[in-house]
Amino acid sequence: MQCPQCGAPVVLEETECIIQCRFCKTCNIIHTQPYPCYYIEPRLKIPAKLQITYVPYWRFKGIEFSLGKKWPGFKVIDQSYLAVDDKSLPVSMGLRSQTQKLKFVRKGIEGSFLPPAVSRKDILKQIAGGSEKKIHIGEILSLIFMPFYQDKGICYDGLSGKVTSTEVSGFISNGKSLPYHLEFTPSLCPDCGWDLEGETDSLVLCCKNCLCFWLIHQKTLKKIKVKCYGTPEDAEMLLPFWRFEIEFQILNCSTYAQLIKMANIPKVVREEHRKQPVYFFTPAFKINPKLFLRIGRQITLAQIVPTRIGALSKCRFHPVGLQLEEGFQAVVPIVMDLCTNKEETVKILIKERLKLTSFSLAYIPFRSSGSEYIQDSLGISLPKNSIKFGRQL
Ligand SMILES: [Zn+2]
Ligand SMILES: [Zn+2]
Repeated sequence: MQCPQCGAPVVLEETECIIQCRFCKTCNIIHTQPYPCYYIEPRLKIPAKLQITYVPYWRFKGIEFSLGKKWPGFKVIDQSYLAVDDKSLPVSMGLRSQTQKLKFVRKGIEGSFLPPAVSRKDILKQIAGGSEKKIHIGEILSLIFMPFYQDKGICYDGLSGKVTSTEVSGFISNGKSLPYHLEFTPSLCPDCGWDLEGETDSLVLCCKNCLCFWLIHQKTLKKIKVKCYGTPEDAEMLLPFWRFEIEFQILNCSTYAQLIKMANIPKVVREEHRKQPVYFFTPAFKINPKLFLRIGRQITLAQIVPTRIGALSKCRFHPVGLQLEEGFQAVVPIVMDLCTNKEETVKILIKERLKLTSFSLAYIPFRSSGSEYIQDSLGISLPKNSIKFGRQL
């Protein structure tokens, strides 16, 4: 794509949300709500008299948790689904959503774009297969337009040139362009105008001038509360976690005393535990689902207490790759993972309606040791590779 300031070409990864221009040195936040729209350029020379029609596919990328009787199950999904009702077109893009260069849809692209006939909501329902026991997080749901063209009623794939169907295709291109445009905001602190700091794939940026943190959320920058733990100044890396206070309708898990009972923590319940509220911690970064559950559980069980934020200048903040809502959705599989009576809890969780009372972002310090990151006081170790690969999920 192009830098919104100077027009220089910029190449982004799919997970990036900030355009850092190497030429004019500006940083801009790119807003793709309600979802990003991409297209793939045709690779063949298509005869000039034939028109290219771009057909939409929904692409889902993320982790699926399913609530089972014994353990929460999980898998990583990367799939695409045809977003129009036409039997002559391929039902999925296959591996192309992963292997082809995607470009943002913008004005002035030759060809016509078919509007999606299947809504975003319907496709999420279809992926869940009508089950209330499935929870999806880390989802990048995007719309990808694939090029096709028709010659004498036969439809051809614009990438391979292969006939997609010998049946006469029903799709008609209406020649209208897509009502979609990208929005940009400069990456500056809304309070003091200082440059915001953060990696280009982080949803949370930091103003080191006024020590505040901003979450990119629904086309704006939202100021969020941040908590730190231990001695972040000495840490190699600070890993972000969403920290939630939650009101349950049915489940008894609002105080530390109830958590001790539910998770069978080897601790004597004291009077103060009956008043101490429980905070749920879910990773605010992407990592493979097995580790996601494990560290979410370990930190939630520890009920760590925040310390004061000191100097932040040297700290390396790991990018926040999971939106607030997605972190909140992950509370259910983590509750499922930490409770001892899973069969009973799953029955409650399916009926349960969670209400978010308060949230903040928690940075937990880790030190580097060989091929691992270690959190000494919590006794957590994470393979460095899992952190690295998680950024591409
Ligand atoms: Zn520029
Ligand atoms: Zn500021």
